[in-house]
Amino acid sequence: MTDMEDSRTQTILRKPEWLKIKVPKGKQYISVRDIVKEHKLHTICTSGHCPNLHECWGRGTATLMILGDICTRSCGFCNVKTGRPPGLDQKEPERVAESVKLMNLKHCVITSVDRDDLDDGGADIWARTVKEIKTLNPHTTIETLIPDFDGREELINRVIESGPEVVSHNLETVRRITPWARSRAKYETSLKVLDIISRSDTVSKSGIMVGLGETREEVIETMDDLRKVGVEVMTIGQYLQPSRKHLPVIEFIAPEQFSEYKSIGLDKGFRFVESSPLVRSSYRAEKHVIPIVVYNAAENYKPYNE
Ligand code: SF4
Repeated sequence: MTDMEDSRTQTILRKPEWLKIKVPKGKQYISVRDIVKEHKLHTICTSGHCPNLHECWGRGTATLMILGDICTRSCGFCNVKTGRPPGLDQKEPERVAESVKLMNLKHCVITSVDRDDLDDGGADIWARTVKEIKTLNPHTTIETLIPDFDGREELINRVIESGPEVVSHNLETVRRITPWARSRAKYETSLKVLDIISRSDTVSKSGIMVGLGETREEVIETMDDLRKVGVEVMTIGQYLQPSRKHLPVIEFIAPEQFSEYKSIGLDKGFRFVESSPLVRSSYRAEKHVIPIVVYNAAENYKPYNE
């Protein structure tokens, strides 16, 4: 048994105060919840047991998950169902675009499960979804949080060329912990994906979870790796175990440590660093399009790192 496997048997750590969240439920929350239900949409907010669900839905934002709700991979930290997905829903791009319109989103985040069963990894549906959203919602900006497409440049470029303003791909954790936490995905492949994104005209973004047993030095090394491939926006949040079957939390990182990561990241040249315990990759994602002219004029504009 390796140290990592051994840690799965450790006692569950008690959540510290700073991770306890309020659950606001207003009109906006109810409206997003109803649209999601009516249009049979999948969201990573519910699939991933996101701690910010009520806050985001309450602000009228949601991260929509395309290509179904069954992933062909099985990462140890992730709560998305895993298995053999059924065929493709060719009407999904139109349905998602209509829902974005109904939700009246100024900015939307689209992500997907991994579809290693498809020849194109789902790139065609990805590109069509972005284009449909743009056609029906010409003033909505889009972030695509993409899978690694096994590092296949032509597939990644298909998504980029469909025109999202931000393209993100999460590194999820530091190099050493990657084989333990992620299934099939490789640290180097993810860096290659991010390099392809950075060489395009979009904003490139990546995120990691902390609390999986990584050291401070490893987090800093990860920042260096991301900067080397030109990533501009980085998110860092606390890993929370979705159930006892998932990887255990090794440590709850103190808020002060998150603040330190943020200043180190900014010193290293990231344009934006979102680092605090409840940060998730799409949390308040609308701020990451600030460099794009469209959002500079938005009503609630606030400099991101204030
Ligand atoms: S690739 Fe891993 S993290 Fe992404 S949805 Fe599938 S199981 Fe979850």
